[in-house]
Amino acid sequence: MELLSTSHDELILNPGLIQPHGLLLALSTQLEILQVSNNSQDYLGKLPEELLGQPLSYLLDASQLEAIAQCLPEDSEVVNYLKLSICTSAGEQYFDGFVHRTTDAVILELESTHSQAKVNFLNLHTLVKGAIAKLKRTTNLIEFLQLAAVEVRRITGYDRVMVYQFDHQGAGVVIAEAKQEELSPYLGLHYPATDIPEQARELYRRGLLRFIPNLNAQPVELMPTTDVTPVDLSLSVLRSVHPCCVEFHQNMGVAAIMVISLIQNEKLWGLISCHHQTPKFVPYEVRAGCELLGQIVSSELANKVIQEEVDYKARLESLRSGVVESISQADNFRDALVQPEPRLLGVVGATGAAVCLDREITLVGATPDIENVRSLIAWADTQVKDNIFYTDSLPKLYPEARSFKDTASGLLLLRISKLRHYYILWFRPEVIRTVNWAGNPDESIQVHSDGSITLCPRKSFAQWQEIVQLTSEPWKQCELDSALSLRNAIVGIVLKKAEELAKINLELERSNHELASFAYAASHDLKEPLRGIYNYSTILLEDYAPVLDEDGIEFLQTIVSLSVRMETLINGLLRLSQLGQAELHLQATDLNELLNQVISVFHASRQQANLDIRINRPLPTIQCDPVLVSEVFSNLIANAFKYNDKAEQWVEIGYLDKEDTGNLPPSPRHMLQRREPPQRSGSPPPLSPSSCSQSPPIFYVQDNGIGIPPHHYQTIFKLFKRLHSQEKYGGGTGAGLAIAKKIIERHGGRIWVESTVGEGSTFYLTLE
Ligand code: ADP
Repeated sequence: MELLSTSHDELILNPGLIQPHGLLLALSTQLEILQVSNNSQDYLGKLPEELLGQPLSYLLDASQLEAIAQCLPEDSEVVNYLKLSICTSAGEQYFDGFVHRTTDAVILELESTHSQAKVNFLNLHTLVKGAIAKLKRTTNLIEFLQLAAVEVRRITGYDRVMVYQFDHQGAGVVIAEAKQEELSPYLGLHYPATDIPEQARELYRRGLLRFIPNLNAQPVELMPTTDVTPVDLSLSVLRSVHPCCVEFHQNMGVAAIMVISLIQNEKLWGLISCHHQTPKFVPYEVRAGCELLGQIVSSELANKVIQEEVDYKARLESLRSGVVESISQADNFRDALVQPEPRLLGVVGATGAAVCLDREITLVGATPDIENVRSLIAWADTQVKDNIFYTDSLPKLYPEARSFKDTASGLLLLRISKLRHYYILWFRPEVIRTVNWAGNPDESIQVHSDGSITLCPRKSFAQWQEIVQLTSEPWKQCELDSALSLRNAIVGIVLKKAEELAKINLELERSNHELASFAYAASHDLKEPLRGIYNYSTILLEDYAPVLDEDGIEFLQTIVSLSVRMETLINGLLRLSQLGQAELHLQATDLNELLNQVISVFHASRQQANLDIRINRPLPTIQCDPVLVSEVFSNLIANAFKYNDKAEQWVEIGYLDKEDTGNLPPSPRHMLQRREPPQRSGSPPPLSPSSCSQSPPIFYVQDNGIGIPPHHYQTIFKLFKRLHSQEKYGGGTGAGLAIAKKIIERHGGRIWVESTVGEGSTFYLTLE
């Protein structure tokens, strides 16, 4: 590569020096010689002063002048090639001529064909044609460029031919290389952007081939050196080499270079750079063949790069549609998203991922640990714009990430739902793990005391890693698009599922309603024939007893008692179905008053019994349907005495203090599944913190009765479910708790039990 000083722009374009392997004439537009390189004696046998001021016809005949005039149209940036012959003191000499126009002059450069190695045209033609045919057959970009390097080396014979690609920041990476076996490889090395300043890049963009046969050759001045407008040598093929470039290559052990520009969309995409350890002259025809090859590579490059991008996008799309298909079909959303792991990573080209659904985090590939991911989500969520946040230098924005830079210097976070706390995060490691810098880029720049900057070549090309700290490979636009498309698809699927669920709920509500109406109608209608059976059996018993034998009378008595029982059951069913449909009459209800009434009715019905009903402190006033809630308490109090075999029976009614709710499981289901026997103490078990703050009061009805085994904690609330035979504990239908549960649920509350067999039970309930 050619290094140039950014502080010497003038020098870059107008160094006033050329390489000595040719001769330069700067002409006026009338083709009068204004300047000539100080080596004219060597090539033409004439001193500069003999040539200065002379018309070009002094050297060339009319037909050659005519040919030159023809290739000088206005505004042309083209360097034209012609074969020229000039009569010199040593006889007729043949030259390769290069002519082009600058803003105010015409430049004619001559390379002696005499000194050049003979070129076998047929062979060269075959080589170039063969190379083009092979290049066309390659299928991907890297294979294509590798072949280009091999073919350029085959045609030119340089020791090493490399293909550089420039990244978005202008740094170069060697992506293909063909070399002499014993040379150490440069493949994969990165070169800092400062190696080729903007000015030099512009020169490579304008001139497609730069040829320096001997970096160590002494440059030649243009004469006269003073009193002339400096000529613009930016398109000159003989333009001298900047000293920095010479030193830069000398440090690499390189004596000759040739650089072919690779252009895509009029931008410098990369370079084919040829190195030789000794001076090396390449004849013009061979250079022309390489330039042509470079142009073919450039034009095919666009296709190959586009193809590469298209292929990558297609790959992302196929992985993404795989994920979408899985999640739309699966019951388990998380598994479908996460499995197989490489698919989720491939959707954006990441090395790790974390999926957070309802605060539960699943990790995939190389990631920070769960706690770090959790904190990261909390922070990154504040950075999200349009549901996405991404960075290739996370630790610079979020210092905590320094501790996991190896896995997550790059972050792409996708917010699927803030409400549900649904996020997908993808990670990339610090780039230092993947980049090998060819020298320290910082050392290539020297800032002088006067503020000017010079680029200095690095002293060593030993591979070392630049501290590209805390940065990952950047996220490509197509990867960000892929993530956002995945989000849209997920949101679509989730919405569809929510709609389906709403439909099912509606259907369920309708069929529940129908069922309740049916139960009501059926139980209501059943009562009539049942009454008939009861009535006729009673008539038979009363009026026909004399004609019946003992068995007959006993059978009839059984019919009567069975029909009484059946009526009780039907009444229970009827009550339950009524409850499902009845409207609640909610009102502020003082539970102390409500319980006083319940207890006095209870006392009235059991006057003989010694009923110890304790209410240790006043109960609150709550919003409820007092008639229905009375029924609940009445049932629970009745059961407390009914299922009690102690001599001293008692029941306590109260509610929990907030501090008592500390450890009580949050849901009845959870509580019912507890393995250990429920704690039995003076005060009921406390509630979980989640239900403390705004939760409604938890009431309890506690007794010292027979208790309930844990596996029946749920079954006792089912309709007609009793734990004992019909005659034990005063009988019953098994409908009481089912009705109590229904009433409570209609209030939006819940009921559950904790108990110790032989010691007693506590029924808990909420009403709002
Ligand atoms: P019923 O009392 O008519 O049988 P319930 O629905 O009121 O119906 O109760 C269902 C079952 O739950 C009862 O049969 C009894 O086995 C059990 N049960 C209810 N309350 C208690 C209690 N306080 N102590 C022990 N067992 C109870």
